[in-house]
Amino acid sequence: MQFFRVYIRVLRLLGSEAILALVLVAANLGLAIAQFAEPILFGRIIDKLATAQSESRAVQWNELVPLLGAWIGFGLFTILAAVLVALHADRLSHRRRLGIMAEYFEHVLHLPLGFHTSVHSGRLLKTMLDGASNMASVWLNFFRENCASFVAVFILLPLSLFINWRLASLLMVLVGLFGILTAFILKRTEGMQGKVEQYHTDLAERASDALGNIAVIQSFTRIEAETSALRQVSRALLDAQMPVLSWWALAAVATRASATLTLLGIFLLGVSLHLNGLATIGEIVTFMSFATMLIGRLEQVVGFINWILLIVPKLEDFFEVLDTKPAVGDRPGAVDPGRLQGHVAFEHVTFTYDKRRIAVNDVSFDVAAGQTIALVGSTGSGKSTTLGLLHRVFDPNEGRITIDGMDLRDMTLQSLRRNIGVVFQEPMLFARSIEENLRVGKPDATDEEIALAIERAQATDFIAQQTDGLKTIVGERGRSLSGGERQRVSIARALLKDPPILIFDEATSALDATTEKQLQAALEAATKGRTTFVIAHRLATIRNADRIIVFDQGRVIETGSFDELVARNGRFAALARAQFMAGAGTAPSQNPAE
Ligand code: ADP
Ligand code: MG
Repeated sequence: MQFFRVYIRVLRLLGSEAILALVLVAANLGLAIAQFAEPILFGRIIDKLATAQSESRAVQWNELVPLLGAWIGFGLFTILAAVLVALHADRLSHRRRLGIMAEYFEHVLHLPLGFHTSVHSGRLLKTMLDGASNMASVWLNFFRENCASFVAVFILLPLSLFINWRLASLLMVLVGLFGILTAFILKRTEGMQGKVEQYHTDLAERASDALGNIAVIQSFTRIEAETSALRQVSRALLDAQMPVLSWWALAAVATRASATLTLLGIFLLGVSLHLNGLATIGEIVTFMSFATMLIGRLEQVVGFINWILLIVPKLEDFFEVLDTKPAVGDRPGAVDPGRLQGHVAFEHVTFTYDKRRIAVNDVSFDVAAGQTIALVGSTGSGKSTTLGLLHRVFDPNEGRITIDGMDLRDMTLQSLRRNIGVVFQEPMLFARSIEENLRVGKPDATDEEIALAIERAQATDFIAQQTDGLKTIVGERGRSLSGGERQRVSIARALLKDPPILIFDEATSALDATTEKQLQAALEAATKGRTTFVIAHRLATIRNADRIIVFDQGRVIETGSFDELVARNGRFAALARAQFMAGAGTAPSQNPAE
């Protein structure tokens, strides 16, 4: 059964604290044995008393002392083991919860951008929190209850056959019935609960998606629509959850009823056996205790299985993410080339996302160190993908990419990315201070280096105008800054990193003329002394480039300098006329003379 595999996997995650875990298992074993021994001793004592009574004599203390001594001994042991479990089970599960959360977090950060494009961050966050806290509960449950229950059911119950096999058989029939009932209900509900969990995840994804786009929701007056959509998912979730709950309510009722019947059965069978001389009074007492204890244990197990069934889908989601392999990784023997010069070459590079449409088709070009290259072409023509291949968001399906003559796949991912700075089209910032955002580029940067970077990025003035200057917190994704400000912070961040190669997915958003000019100046400062790739939408950027590469449907169709391409009067010339030259006289920032 699915749930059983997941359960075992969760327990195996205790591996890093295996010794403590084993000690706790041993303590549980001891607890179960002690709990089992008590009724036996109790029964023996009663038998001694009954025998003495039937022989019409007073019982001798020395007959009882060994039994009482053993009882006290077990009692003390129980206390000791219980203290051990109480002290360490919680701590262990808390430690491992945080540990596994950190492992998941690190793993997720390593997963390729392609993965993150297809999986919502709200989903990933929910999976992390749900998975880790539920695992902690599983561990805690295991040490507090389950372990002892398993021992009681699978080891001690068969042993009770040696005390009185007739009474023991009745108990075993009871356990068997329990097992069948539980397995039946489990089978009915396992699939149903998987569906419920999908609704749970949808709920989290919807909510976090809405919160992330709150401005759109408010301005498009979508509050009601979004809320009712969420309610709809909730309703579907409840509809799917109810039948599962009904089945398990049935299990609980059946458990209760059979508990009463079993106690009655043991008593009746015991008495009739006793009348035929096949059971002593002490054995009846012992088995009544066994039955009570076992019923308690079984109720626990059924309750636990019911509960774990509800969380198995959450744990499966967690493991699914944990099992996702990063698509690009270090090849064995990959080396760190140190600081690269920045001579970049694409050799017949082909790449497809989905094996159906080719996003980058047989692209070849060679860029000398220090050059500025503009990539132009209509949207969807493969520009971003081409540059993604350069910093190994993906690896090419065919062909190869080299820097300074070395295949990208022969260097470690970390050293490659240290050599490449990316200014993303959407300037993604952390909800931290401006300074912390800058230091992402270089954690140990001096104040002077930071000042220089923000000056080159034309960001000094607006940062000075913020309430707390560099210490100003910029809000989630940098919301409290304007688009152009965010863009300049992200340029400063890349400049601070000071990489030999810079990738610039230029913002398409219409910026005002002043900001545009500032951004242009920032860009020029950034490109100095580096190999720079710019996905360009502005004429000024394109004019300043050493070379322009024109993309169409994944292929490079033209390449050359601005003047060459205009003179050729081909695709670029047409594109330039349509996109950049139109209205050149009215918009100062688009004036070719700049
Ligand atoms: P550009 O940057 O020139 O606008 P892209 O490189 O982003 O173009 O896209 C090239 C092609 O690859 C497009 O057809 C686009 O739909 C497709 N594409 C881009 N990103 C993905 C992705 N993550 N998964 C699948 N297809 C993608
Ligand atoms: Mg793009």
